[in-house]
Amino acid sequence: MDIEMYDVIILGSGPAGLTAALYTARANKKTLVLGGPTLGGQMATIAKLENYPGWHGDGMALAEFMKSQATSFGATVVSASARSVDGDAESGFNVAADDGKNYVGKTVIFATGASPRKLEIEGARELMGHGVSYCATCDGFFYYGKDVIVMGGGNAALNDALYLADVAKSVKIIYRKGAFTRAEAVLRNRVAERKNIECLFNTDLKRVAAVPDSDKIVVTTLDDKQIETDGLFVAIGHEANTDYLDEGVRRDEMGRLIPSELPAGTFVAGDVHSDIQMQPQLAPDAVRR
Ligand SMILES: Cc1cc2nc3c(=O)[nH]c(=O)nc-3n(C[C@H](O)[C@H](O)[C@H](O)COP(=O)(O)OP(=O)(O)OC[C@H]3O[C@@H](n4cnc5c(N)ncnc54)[C@H](O)[C@@H]3O)c2cc1C
Repeated sequence: MDIEMYDVIILGSGPAGLTAALYTARANKKTLVLGGPTLGGQMATIAKLENYPGWHGDGMALAEFMKSQATSFGATVVSASARSVDGDAESGFNVAADDGKNYVGKTVIFATGASPRKLEIEGARELMGHGVSYCATCDGFFYYGKDVIVMGGGNAALNDALYLADVAKSVKIIYRKGAFTRAEAVLRNRVAERKNIECLFNTDLKRVAAVPDSDKIVVTTLDDKQIETDGLFVAIGHEANTDYLDEGVRRDEMGRLIPSELPAGTFVAGDVHSDIQMQPQLAPDAVRR
């Protein structure tokens, strides 16, 4: 049986993977995108994208648009995840996927991005999907008119809090530091203006538990204060998605891939790249409203 050989196999369908696909397909390279669990990646979870030039709308719609741009030049996008990658540039790379198929490519681009860092406190794992969530735009709807907590203090946490403030009755932000120094000024200002958002600084959690005979949960802070709430949304950073690669492949301290450590014929793009350049954070007084 003839095995279909792609010029490029791209792992991931976030902005990095779909951008790479647009370029390789447009350069007439036979391109396959293994999209993974989420078409659009993190972008798809952003309810209101307003700082991407030329686009003002929800992230999922932009993901669909990027996908259609890539496929219009001949890229194939498959919703499957890579389980392993073997081979070399001479004989080709073999990507085993969770749809039971093996895909072969002359080159591979790793663009598998990052996933939310999980909260490692007592009760968090058991209550995931039952009061503990990692996606405000996916689950926020269930908390209409209710009280919620957002844990974290970066852009993602403040974005989540603002989104939830439109849906929930009240939002408490729990942050272990004394101020939102890692978040953009425009988001900090909006949070400060929202009457139904309360910020609890210098606070961290040690436990979350279900409240018996109710849908509520209760969180316990490090200083043993208990707060009852309907939902806990966790936004405490991200970890690179590289589980499908051998443990022998060297990563940086955040689990991201280092291009010089990868075999010839493989490339890295986006948040899974060790040398990622994050968007610049403007100093607070650099933003005039
Ligand atoms: C709430 C929020 C707000 C943000 N706001 C901004 C902003 O204002 N400006 C900005 O620049 N950035 C922002 N970001 C960050 C931005 O979304 C990311 O930097 C960007 O999505 C990274 O793109 P990526 O393609 O590298 O990875 P990701 O978006 O993480 O996509 C990874 C892709 O890999 C796939 N995948 C995972 N595992 C596998 C596997 N084994 N096989 C195949 N595919 C796999 C996933 O399905 C996904 O499609 C925000 C993020 C969040 C969560």
